[in-house]
Amino acid sequence: RDAAITDGQRQSLDIINRSGEHLLALINEILDMAKIEAGRLQVRIEPFDLGALAHDIVELMRERAAEKGLGLRLEQSSALPRRIRSDEIKLRQALINLVGNAIKFTEQGRVVLRLGAALTPRGLRLSIAVEDSGIGIAAEDQARIFDPFAQVEKTGAQKGTGLGLAITRQFVELMGGRIGVTSQPGQGSCFRIE
Ligand code: ADP
Repeated sequence: RDAAITDGQRQSLDIINRSGEHLLALINEILDMAKIEAGRLQVRIEPFDLGALAHDIVELMRERAAEKGLGLRLEQSSALPRRIRSDEIKLRQALINLVGNAIKFTEQGRVVLRLGAALTPRGLRLSIAVEDSGIGIAAEDQARIFDPFAQVEKTGAQKGTGLGLAITRQFVELMGGRIGVTSQPGQGSCFRIE
């Protein structure tokens, strides 16, 4: 906030800041993984507004998508209940990871976050899909990317730990859900939580 610093110094401070944020994200992923391995992860199930959460995430990611010239939009089924019971903090983290990946691995086109609900004999089934028009994932890699530290080689140049999807899958399963992916290499991917 010092008005006396030069433009060069301000740029350096921005770099330090971004590096700090990047390191913090890496440390948090490693801590989450350690907690999962120690069996110390707990879910806190409480009612919350799923549509509002999704809206927040789209707003949070809007700048990142805009920087790459990508469209980012939210599509919400009218059958979606206003409030659901789940672990909001873990779901938020899972969605940030999926939308973040979708933006990271897409060079043109768009990313869509889609919320759906369908009535089944066992109750209302919610689905959350994150669809991108990016590089896609080869069939032989689609199961492997949910393993800790797994990254697809060609894309390895992208910074990351390879822990995001492993953590996301653990969170989803702890909340009683499932996650899967369908993809067409060169055309895009769709990660879907039920
Ligand atoms: P990270 O993003 O830190 O590498 P993740 O566990 O989130 O780790 O993802 C693992 C790997 O799965 C990524 O390195 C990438 O190769 C692949 N991947 C994930 N999401 C996508 C996507 N939307 N499109 C293409 N590849 C993806």
